[in-house]
Amino acid sequence: MHPTPSTALPVAVIGAGPVGLAAAAHLLQRGLPVQVFEAGSSPAAHLQGYGHVRLFSPWRFNIDRAARALLQREGWQPPADEGALPTAAELREQYLLPLAHSEALRQRVQYGARVLAISRRGVDKVKTRGREQAPFVLQWQGAEGVQEFEARAVIDASGTWGQPNPLGAHGLPVPGEREQAAQIQYGMPDILGAERGRYAGRRVLVVGAGHSAAGNLIALAQLAEEVPGTAIVWAVRGQDLRRLFGGGSKDGLPARGALGERLRALTEAGRLELHTGFAIGRISPDEAGRLQVHSAHDARRIEGIEQIVAATGARPNLELARELRMRLDPWLESTEALAPLIDPNEHSCGTVRPHGHRELQHPEAGFYAIGAKSYGRAPNFLMATGYEQARSVAAALVGDWAAADDVQLELPETGVCSVDFAAAADQAPGGACCGGPPVQNASACCVKDEDAKAAGATGCGCGPAVARPKATSACCG
Ligand SMILES: Cc1cc2nc3c(=O)[nH]c(=O)nc-3n(C[C@H](O)[C@H](O)[C@H](O)COP(=O)(O)OP(=O)(O)OC[C@H]3O[C@@H](n4cnc5c(N)ncnc54)[C@H](O)[C@@H]3O)c2cc1C
Repeated sequence: MHPTPSTALPVAVIGAGPVGLAAAAHLLQRGLPVQVFEAGSSPAAHLQGYGHVRLFSPWRFNIDRAARALLQREGWQPPADEGALPTAAELREQYLLPLAHSEALRQRVQYGARVLAISRRGVDKVKTRGREQAPFVLQWQGAEGVQEFEARAVIDASGTWGQPNPLGAHGLPVPGEREQAAQIQYGMPDILGAERGRYAGRRVLVVGAGHSAAGNLIALAQLAEEVPGTAIVWAVRGQDLRRLFGGGSKDGLPARGALGERLRALTEAGRLELHTGFAIGRISPDEAGRLQVHSAHDARRIEGIEQIVAATGARPNLELARELRMRLDPWLESTEALAPLIDPNEHSCGTVRPHGHRELQHPEAGFYAIGAKSYGRAPNFLMATGYEQARSVAAALVGDWAAADDVQLELPETGVCSVDFAAAADQAPGGACCGGPPVQNASACCVKDEDAKAAGATGCGCGPAVARPKATSACCG
């Protein structure tokens, strides 16, 4: 384990979202001074942006343990029914605002403070000698210009929601995307509320295949019931909709399963114009100012689109840590060690085994990315995962290795495998997808995978066998 600068400097936390604030609570519990930098003008700025969305995890999964203890010491009352599903706005107002404004934290969060870059005092990325003893330096942009802050360690919990993926299946903005930006929104706009006027009575294209796309489509379906003329078009890259529709009643989070079920019902009822296998190649305006959306692979074209909602996921901002020594997975942009646990190409069950500081560490001692950002481009991050990451990293920062390594996390399964759904469901004990999380072999992704490895096979075959490059430390030969 690497040393960190042994000074009285605080730990800097980037982002006052649910995981950044949880990290602050764990650090305080461990007796470490902490300074949180939040780009927004108030806590949990990303959740504020999609406040209308009802979360699919109930309150009991959404409150961090150290944060709960801190709040309860100050007289906070938890929600009466912790089995209820809050909206993002309710989570923010009833839990995150009280936490950020608590006696313990209020002086330690700086708002309107966007961290631009992180390095080490007097040591650039190339220089090795003295590196681990040099304090971190954060450059942050505030109302008074760019300032610097020194820290003994840095926890980056800045999320990914601020960097939505573009429309192109190749990961780049397609020709026409920038030019037609006025007719495109990213993420989860408030279709039934603040943005209603933009979508009511329009022909709207939703692009994407995750929970955000499902939420947008369901909101548009409700709008279509209320406002005649609202037409819903849905384009997905893949052909097989089973994964999109989710695990239904097998999902450990019933509301998440229900989202997919509702989408399935809308699709089967023909209330959506569905285009599968449709990778967008180009967007062009027609004479009436509507959009034509062209397939990248064939002559297909979706005509007459008035608005596009791109629910195509998000990616981490890697610029922040450009000057630090990072070991990132080549395609997910998570840490290398975390990638095999969360890669949607390989991972079958949507169940992520517990992980903590070891999987999250980089060659740059004392720097960790946690929360939604830790997953890089992989979807399906859950707050509960981030809370356990925060607990483990805080323990590691004070050298309590027993606690840091004792990662415990029970995540609800999605009940969905990446391929071979029917076979997996049939073979899995108890009907759970692939049998659920592995029992003993921590490198396995599920029981089926564990059994296959025990029998000498390379794995369960749930996903395509894409070899991940092994990190090498030798310099020659
Ligand atoms: C629509 C939607 C629904 C979701 N539903 C659920 C659910 O039901 N259950 C669940 O467990 N998870 C859910 N998630 C996933 C995940 O738990 C949330 O995204 C969660 O908010 C992640 O927390 P975080 O603290 O890691 O990041 P964020 O909530 O994204 O917070 C990051 C914070 O960092 C700030 N920031 C960003 N860049 C900088 C910078 N350079 N300097 C300073 N501050 C910065 C941002 O303003 C923001 O406040 C959902 C996600 C989305 C998008």
